[in-house]
Amino acid sequence: MLAASTTVTDVIGAHPFITVAAVILILLFLATRRRKTGKPQQDQRRMFTGSQKQEAKRRAGGRCEHSSMGFRCKQPGQHADHIFPWSKGGATEMSNCQSLCARHNLQKSATVPSPFYIHRLQRRRGRYFPAGVNPRVEWRLGRAH
Ligand SMILES: [Zn+2]
Repeated sequence: MLAASTTVTDVIGAHPFITVAAVILILLFLATRRRKTGKPQQDQRRMFTGSQKQEAKRRAGGRCEHSSMGFRCKQPGQHADHIFPWSKGGATEMSNCQSLCARHNLQKSATVPSPFYIHRLQRRRGRYFPAGVNPRVEWRLGRAH
């Protein structure tokens, strides 16, 4: 039985295992947190396959999908780009792929696109994607197909 006047220090002094248990719990808590807030989960596959690159180019009509001031780039699509960067957790799936020329791919680099960028890309795609191809951008791991 603990007396009413017993302090936390008295309990720790009498039961050192409580201190050890508390330290272990704190370490476990920190380890779990680090896992969650650390590097984003990444798609195991980094590169688009040859056929995915061909498909990205085909559905974009062979052209770069970048647009500036309402004018679409006239260069041929040379690179299959992760719309949402792979390094930030973007999936290596067709729904997260766009065809870009070398210059615009380099310019974009690992920039996370704004919702406005995605919205405009989807709207443009509605005009040049072949019928039946979903223009929707879906980048999240495990959701994209
Ligand atoms: Zn371009």
